[in-house]
Amino acid sequence: MKKSIVSVFLFLFCYTAFSGVKGLVVFGLDKEKPVKDTVPFVMEEDEMQEDTDSLFSFPASDLYCGWDTIHTHSTKFDIGSLQDNVKEIALYDKNSCTYAHPFSGNVTSGFGPRKRRFHYGADIDLEVGDAVGVAFDGKVRIAKRSKTYGNVVVVRHSNGLETYYAHLSKINVEIGEEVFAGQIIGLGGNTGHSRGSHLHFEVRYLGQPINPTDIISFTEHKLVSDTLCLSKKTFSYVCEAKKAAGKNYANSKAKVHIVKKGETLYAIARKYKTSPKELSQKNRLKSTNILRLGQRIKL
Ligand SMILES: [Zn+2]
Repeated sequence: MKKSIVSVFLFLFCYTAFSGVKGLVVFGLDKEKPVKDTVPFVMEEDEMQEDTDSLFSFPASDLYCGWDTIHTHSTKFDIGSLQDNVKEIALYDKNSCTYAHPFSGNVTSGFGPRKRRFHYGADIDLEVGDAVGVAFDGKVRIAKRSKTYGNVVVVRHSNGLETYYAHLSKINVEIGEEVFAGQIIGLGGNTGHSRGSHLHFEVRYLGQPINPTDIISFTEHKLVSDTLCLSKKTFSYVCEAKKAAGKNYANSKAKVHIVKKGETLYAIARKYKTSPKELSQKNRLKSTNILRLGQRIKL
């Protein structure tokens, strides 16, 4: 019995050892053959084609240096380089579906100075969940959540224009997706810096905002012309925008007054052409309060 157990063990030992050696020999003989796992990764021809396409097939590649899918705004071109009526952009293309109005709502705030800031788009009134369509055929460059724009989609079109759709509650498209005029790219919402549901719609050319009413009639929901003439006039608002920004800066600088030695509320009010009563209310001060040196007084 013991003998048979020993012979079984001996057999198993010899078989394993032999197999191992056999394995080594085979490996040694075959070592010139490439081992499948170590073959360097080679792209299939169609994969290479796809990769090349993504680099060179974005819309208006002759105008833009690249296809930036991270930064919402493209680098702005120098307006100073524009002469009057030198650049004509076709808005209507026989081969495309031309224009589709993004959402048929009232414009509640247009392009232009707004309080201390400049508003670079048109706000179209809508309800959360209303379908928002893309204005022209194009390719999605940005589809993300931004602090100010909220959920935003930016589409680049073959004529070099880019259209922005901001404050969406839902985004229905992906970066790189080809879209067609009228296609629903998202749902209206109230995300980002927004007070009440609306669509913030912007039109830009090489990063520079354009008044959407230069190309679209928001009452008739159609293009105002088949072409857009880009000239210095198109961007004349820039001076206004700079003024608004300057005022904003000046106001922000003068928002607070630091109390100096011997200053009274009356003296501070006189300095900023306001009344002691207004300053008292803004700073919750009583007439009996004595100002401290270095105290911050809201203006
Ligand atoms: Zn807006």
